[in-house]
Amino acid sequence: MELAPALNTIQSQLKEGQLHLPKLVAHYLQRIKSHAHLNAFVEVFEEETKQKSLEIQAKISNGTAGKLAGMIIGIKDNICYRNHRVSAASKILENYTSVYSATVVERLLAEDAIIIGRLNCDEFAMGGSNETSYYGPVRNFADSDHVSGGSSGGSAVAVQAGLCMAALGTDTGGSIRQPAAFCGVIGLKPTYGRVSRHGIIAFASSFDQVGPITRSIEDAALILEVIAGTDQYDSTLSTAAVPSYTQQLKTSGKKRIAYLPETLSAEGLDTEIKAVTENAIQKLRDEGHVVEPVSFPYLDYVIPAYYILTMAEASSNLARYDGVHYGYRSPNATDLESTYKKSRSEGFGPEVKRRIMLGSFVLSAGYYDAYYAKAQKVRRLISEKLDYILQNHDFILMPTTPAPAFKIGEKLDDPVTMYLADIFTVQASLAGIPAISLPVGNNSKNLPVGLQFLGKRFGEAELLAFSNYFLNISGT
Ligand code: GLN
Repeated sequence: MELAPALNTIQSQLKEGQLHLPKLVAHYLQRIKSHAHLNAFVEVFEEETKQKSLEIQAKISNGTAGKLAGMIIGIKDNICYRNHRVSAASKILENYTSVYSATVVERLLAEDAIIIGRLNCDEFAMGGSNETSYYGPVRNFADSDHVSGGSSGGSAVAVQAGLCMAALGTDTGGSIRQPAAFCGVIGLKPTYGRVSRHGIIAFASSFDQVGPITRSIEDAALILEVIAGTDQYDSTLSTAAVPSYTQQLKTSGKKRIAYLPETLSAEGLDTEIKAVTENAIQKLRDEGHVVEPVSFPYLDYVIPAYYILTMAEASSNLARYDGVHYGYRSPNATDLESTYKKSRSEGFGPEVKRRIMLGSFVLSAGYYDAYYAKAQKVRRLISEKLDYILQNHDFILMPTTPAPAFKIGEKLDDPVTMYLADIFTVQASLAGIPAISLPVGNNSKNLPVGLQFLGKRFGEAELLAFSNYFLNISGT
C-alpha cells in the first residue's frame, strides 16, 4: 500500500513553509471534485474550509496551533456538527441541521483540525456495503464496480482516494474495520467506553463507537488521543486515563498471539484471504512470536446474537423519528396517527424498516425471552471467552472479512448473505474490545485485503504499537 505521509511530516512542512495550508486545502477540494463519481461525500464545507485554512495557517506561523493543525478530516454523516446538516444518510433527516456538536467534533476542532465535509454511509449505519444510503452507493476507488464496504463507506473511500487525510467513522459491528479492509486503509474500533458517543446518531447504543480511518498508524494514534476520554455527556465512558498513544508506538518483546481455527475453516472464507492470514501467522512465528490456535466454539452464534441485539436497540433508538420532533414529516398526513405512520413509512428505507420490525419482534411479549434475553446470554459467553483468551494472549489475529469487496448490487436482494459477511467483525463489538483492520496488500484482482487484530479492553496503546510493527514487517 502506498502510505501517505503522516500528519507530523505535513506539519513540519507547513511550519517550514514548504507547504501552505490554503494550498493543501485547495488540493483536496479539487480532488473531491474530480472524484465525485465515487460518491464519498454527501456535502463539502468548501467556503468554510478555505476560511479555516487561512486562520490555522496563521496559527501555525505564530506557533499557537493545536495538535491537529494541518489535518484535513471528513466525518461520517451520523456525527453531529453544530449548524451543519447531518442526515445519517436517511431521507427522514434529509434537511436536519445539528443544534450542537458531537464531543468528538468539539475535540477535533479544539486541536485545529479542519473538517472538510460529511461522508456518505449506510442509512443509520445499518449495512455492510454502503448501498442502503439514501444518496446511493459509494464506489470503491480500487475498482468502481465494487462496493466500498459499510457502513462507513464514504469515510474509507475518502481516505483511500486521497480526498482527505483521515476520516471519522462509527463501528457498531464492523463499520470502521470492514470498509477499511475493502479499501486498503487502516480502521480502528476503540474499546466500548473509550470515545464519547455524545452527538452520534444512535444505532445500537451498547455497541456504537467512533474511531479513525487513516493511512498511517501515527495518525490513528493521534486522532484517538484527541477524541478519547471522559465526557460529562456520556456516562458509559471509562474514567481510565487516556494514554499518549503517539508516544507509545514502539513495541518490544515477543508476543503471544491467538488465532481462532474456526475462523480459518469458516464456510465461505475466500482462499486468498485465508492464505494471507496463514502467511501472517507464519511471518509472526518467523519473527519469534508465539502464534497458536485457540478454539472459539461460538462462531456460529455471533451473527444471530449481534443482529438480535442491535435490531432490538435500533427499534428503540429510532422510535424518536416520528414526523413531529425531527426531520421529515409526510405531506400526506391528516392526523397524529397518520403523521407517525406516513412519515416513518416514507422516511425510512427498506433495510432500516426491516431492522425496526425485527427489533420490535424480538422485544415483544412472548418472544423477548426466546430471542432478546437469550442473545444477551450469548453475548456474555462470547465476551467472557474473548476476555479469557486475552488473559493468556496479547492479541487475537483473524481476517477482517471473509471475502474482498463484492460487486455493487450483488448481495442487495439477500440480506442474510449480507449479514453473514460480518462474521469476523461482530465478535469484538459484542465483547466491546478494541480491534483494528490493517491493509495487507491486494489480491489477484487488485482488490485490497485486510487483517484484523483484537486487543485487550483499553489496550489501544499496545494494539497500535503492534500494528505499526506488523505493517513494517509485512512490508505494507
Ligand atoms: N454491517 C453491520 C450491520 O449492518 C455493521 C454496521 C455497523 O457497524 N454500523 O449491522
